[in-house]
Amino acid sequence: MGIGNTILKAWDSHFHLDCTSQTLFGNQEASLVNILAAEVGSMPKIKVEVVGGIMVYCDPENYPTNIKCQRKGFGAAGGIHPKKAPLFPHTKFEELRNLLRLKTVVALGEIGRDRCAPASTWKLQEEIFVKVLQLSMPIRPVFWHMRDAADQNCGEVGARCLQIMKANVAPTQRIHLHCFTGTVEQVVSWLETFPKCYFGVTGLVREFDCFQKVALRRIPRGHLLIETDAPYIRPLQASASIPSFIGEVALAVSRVRGETVEEVL
Ligand SMILES: [Zn+2]
Repeated sequence: MGIGNTILKAWDSHFHLDCTSQTLFGNQEASLVNILAAEVGSMPKIKVEVVGGIMVYCDPENYPTNIKCQRKGFGAAGGIHPKKAPLFPHTKFEELRNLLRLKTVVALGEIGRDRCAPASTWKLQEEIFVKVLQLSMPIRPVFWHMRDAADQNCGEVGARCLQIMKANVAPTQRIHLHCFTGTVEQVVSWLETFPKCYFGVTGLVREFDCFQKVALRRIPRGHLLIETDAPYIRPLQASASIPSFIGEVALAVSRVRGETVEEVL
């Protein structure tokens, strides 16, 4: 049951099918249909029908050579997670280029900067994402990842990322800031620089401080995306997050923004 008698339709704009399969079944073979129906020991509080989403492949050790979406409404993204930078030699660049040629792959990412990884890798992360950014040309949307163990708002990392993006892609570039946890200033500056920037909000919204909540309210409705980032950011009793939990993300977002769940979805 959704809200009232209708089951709401939802779209999970960022999840990892391969890692969710690995977490639940110990291998990466599970299909999208299997994952959408998986038992994870806890039922979503808001039942939704997941009618679309983006499956993100960003692990260079396991780039797939073929991706089946199985259902209309779903697509894939291919990139390099910044924590995996040391596992990305030149040959992997070619593999990534091939991955992006698959018909089902509609976006580049996730790529970006992660300061939770050892500082010795930060320079390499930057070199790689600048190189990989050229694969977004001319029109591929980019999934952007930024994290900083020392700053949950990613103020410094965010400013640096914005600067580098400005120098390397056109202002018309479509950008999806994955797992956005920033401030109002960041919402404003990203939108000013890239009018086609979208903000992806995950279940971390439940832990947002007052600055992050203010920022979430400032995101224009047409620029707000919600994500489970499955299998990560799992609800308490669940063994992993799966896209079916996207309704709970929508609920938490709706409470902060003073909107209904339907409006958020
Ligand atoms: Zn992710």
